[in-house]
Amino acid sequence: MSETKDPHEDRREHEYEDLYDVINPATEEVVGRIEMADADAVAVAVAKARHAYDAWRRVAPGDRARLLRRFGDLVGEAADELAALEVAEAGHPIGNARWEVGNLRDVLHYYAGAPERLTGRQIPVAGGIDLTFHEPLGVVGLIVPWNFPLPILGWGLAPALAAGNTVVAKPAEYTPLTALRVAEIGLEAGLPDGVFQVLPGRGTEAGRALVEHPDVRKIVFTGSTAVGKDIAARAAGQVKRVTLELGGKSANIVFADADLDAAADPMAFCDNTGQDCCARTRILVQRDVLDEFLVGLRAKVEALRTGDPTDPATDLGPLISARQRERVAGYVPADAPVAFRGEVPSGPGFWFPPTVLSPVASGDRVATDEIFGPVAAVVPFDDEADAIRIANDTAYGLAGSIWTRDLGRALRVARGVEAGNLSVNSHSAVRYWTPFGGFKQSGLGRELGPDALAAFTETKNVFIATDEH
Ligand code: NAD
Repeated sequence: MSETKDPHEDRREHEYEDLYDVINPATEEVVGRIEMADADAVAVAVAKARHAYDAWRRVAPGDRARLLRRFGDLVGEAADELAALEVAEAGHPIGNARWEVGNLRDVLHYYAGAPERLTGRQIPVAGGIDLTFHEPLGVVGLIVPWNFPLPILGWGLAPALAAGNTVVAKPAEYTPLTALRVAEIGLEAGLPDGVFQVLPGRGTEAGRALVEHPDVRKIVFTGSTAVGKDIAARAAGQVKRVTLELGGKSANIVFADADLDAAADPMAFCDNTGQDCCARTRILVQRDVLDEFLVGLRAKVEALRTGDPTDPATDLGPLISARQRERVAGYVPADAPVAFRGEVPSGPGFWFPPTVLSPVASGDRVATDEIFGPVAAVVPFDDEADAIRIANDTAYGLAGSIWTRDLGRALRVARGVEAGNLSVNSHSAVRYWTPFGGFKQSGLGRELGPDALAAFTETKNVFIATDEH
């Protein structure tokens, strides 16, 4: 941390020594060269955010709401530009990228409704009046992963700003371009300087500096469970608030009475090329319908189109990096029980084919580790109790699907599975209107939904004596 820095100093006045090349994972071409913040640059940004906080928390709720609405509107107007940047830096198919920009816009609009509704309570007590207030925390640090750079930025940013906090966001090394553009759009929308800053940097340098800075009152982190544990341990020293959205190994539980055609949707584990913490990468199928289910799934996996992300007909883009491809490939050695797989283009790009492994034992590492690629493990089960036992046989607990036409069973299984986000006869997981987060080692706290501001405020209780002394 620097002792001499003026809190108003623009971070561009900082000397950057570490430059990072952003690579398009579909072409392997360099699409940007980014200055990586060190701990001093983080200190400058935090000081600026701390200064901006004093005024931002006092902006009238209606005005804060208007600014967030305008911010959402401008994100919507920049949809084509932001989606193109997302395709370039993350390799997401253009249809997905457009959805992601729309999600950021909608989340900003949704939480624009929050400042004017952030009401406390009046609690009946003896001798006076008791009031509660939801006070902002101060500077919030957002540490964002590369798999959904725009939505995950928005899930922390929008409720944090709505509650009166200021934000310093650190995008993932691979995907800083969209976040930098969103920060510019925030300024164009009229956010005061310092209210929202984006600081690209390395996790172990800038990310750690944010976690350890005493003026950062909360860290919102989405990423791997290993890094989440490190952040929780470091934050504990300052009793710093944390929200952690970590890994997953979610089950897709298919009972024999289900609509097997609907349940056999490869996008449940292939969407975003499997780089999705909610991916249903364990497919639990009741033994009596295993063969029928696999026949249906095979046809759909083989029909998936993996390739040029700029083509609207593309289903799957590349993996984010050569390193990620190597990691994923490590789970499919030559003797792996590959039941079937899709095709990939040749030539440059970090491609990996959608792959279904079957049958797999519940304790096998492809059924326990988060692979973060388009690889699913099929695990047969016998009955309801068996399905719940296998679904819970994991350190994670993020999401899952239950396919059955029996409503009672659907509810029993939904209550029995230890995961934060379950869907019945659907593969959807994240809706911004509803709470999202994990059980067990998938995380701590919840994002999104009507109560998200609770994670960005402290409850203050004030008692006012009315009795005469
Ligand atoms: P990662 O944990 O390596 O990195 C995530 C972010 O943390 C990046 O911005 C990185 O720079 C930063 N970081 C890395 N080390 C750090 C440190 N020591 N201190 C502070 N910050 C640090 O994960 P990733 O490879 O970017 O993303 C993939 C992982 O994220 C997967 O395991 C996936 O399940 C998880 N994820 C979870 C969710 C969820 O909502 N639960 C969502 C998306 C991704």
